[in-house]
Amino acid sequence: MMKKDLYKKIAQGMLAAFAGSLVISGGAAMAEASVITPDTGTKPTNAHKRTNPPRPTGASAHNEETQAEQQSAVKKNYGVDNVIRIGIGDGVVKGVISSVNGMNALGGNDSHNYGSFKSNIVASVSAENNNILINGKSTGASSLVFAPVENASGSKIKYNGHEYRGQLVVTAEGGKLLIVNRLSLEDYVKGVLPSEMTPSWNQEALKAQAVAARTFALYTKNQKAHFGSGYDLCDSTHCQSYDGLVNEADSTSLATDATMGLVMTYQGKPIYAPYHSSSGGSTENSEDVWGNYLPYLRSVKDDDSQSPYHNWSVRFTAAQVQKLLSAAGKNIGQLKSISMTAAQGSSSINGVLASGRANAVKFVGTGQTIIINAQDVRKIFGLKSTYFNIRTERAATIPPVKKDVKNNGSANVIDAAPAAMHGTNLRVEGDNVAIVFDGHGFGHGLGMAQYGAKAMADAGKKYDEILHHYYTDVEISKLY
Ligand SMILES: [Zn+2]
Repeated sequence: MMKKDLYKKIAQGMLAAFAGSLVISGGAAMAEASVITPDTGTKPTNAHKRTNPPRPTGASAHNEETQAEQQSAVKKNYGVDNVIRIGIGDGVVKGVISSVNGMNALGGNDSHNYGSFKSNIVASVSAENNNILINGKSTGASSLVFAPVENASGSKIKYNGHEYRGQLVVTAEGGKLLIVNRLSLEDYVKGVLPSEMTPSWNQEALKAQAVAARTFALYTKNQKAHFGSGYDLCDSTHCQSYDGLVNEADSTSLATDATMGLVMTYQGKPIYAPYHSSSGGSTENSEDVWGNYLPYLRSVKDDDSQSPYHNWSVRFTAAQVQKLLSAAGKNIGQLKSISMTAAQGSSSINGVLASGRANAVKFVGTGQTIIINAQDVRKIFGLKSTYFNIRTERAATIPPVKKDVKNNGSANVIDAAPAAMHGTNLRVEGDNVAIVFDGHGFGHGLGMAQYGAKAMADAGKKYDEILHHYYTDVEISKLY
């Protein structure tokens, strides 16, 4: 609680002190006052976008807000001030900061200048309790903003060898530092985009990705997933991969500029906009991935034919299956049979959801029988998606015809089972049986499939057509 309050105070002080110093458009000081209510009462907090989509939680950070406050925040351009804070270092003992532009260390809670540094001159920061030290000398400040002198577009600041746009906010607490990169949402999207989609891809696909990444960032900020830690998003895949400006490319920056301020909204609010690599041919309904219905995350058909992940197979021996289950705390003894099945309360037919993805898998062992939902099966066996089917193979050794064949005389495996085994109980007998997952796609299947977006763009579709395909009944709204 104390920590949270401290950061809140710092954040508010900072905003008051530096509202005018960033390249922003209007309403800068509104950043922390703004609140967006999640759609349909669902709260995918802690938003992941790839392998672990968020699960709803009962707790709401927004309960204290009044309806009026929420509505006024929505009216003010969704409460967006075009500034976003990315946590790039938490619990840091020592950091090195410099700027090719030269920089000032400005007070986070007052208007003092705690030091000016010429081009590439380094400020080494550390903490003594709640006091920030620069180059070993006490500043007496618990919060400092390192701002490049030319705070226009193009200015850069370096932290531990990584270059960032915007400013670095350094906060000391209990002898440790929190380092936050504070920059415009647009510059953030430019940094993120090349990490999320190959820059050489079709410009319309890149534009669709820019809007999705911007929407995802805004939604996560509004959800306040990291607010208690003093920032809006982290820099890992938990939120979106971000490493400053190092990956920026002309094509992705162009796509960002071409879609400046555009986000997807549903009933006037920014949507939760997950995306993934490859759908396997069909995206998924939100409730079939993480239990909550969202009207704009519906299963749609998708051209996945360009994807390198369109078809995949992973093979395990019975012993490996037992071992992996056991490592996940699910010891079943010796595996006797395996089958696709419906999870409890699911209407899936024979364990297959409407999209074609698996619902759950039943493992029968000598010790116990367990049913594991497909999301967890994916995790336990490291599968690319839940869009899989299971079959068994009986291994057999074939003597090589010639000595020079490429397999060097090692055992070949014969597929002894028919390909489609949905709903069939696959008996596992003997040591020579392999369990094979045949699958399609890569990722959770929610929202835009990147390979599908590329296919649509290559077929002449525009970015807005792509987004409307993957996000049902959304509007594309301009924030600024
Ligand atoms: Zn995060």
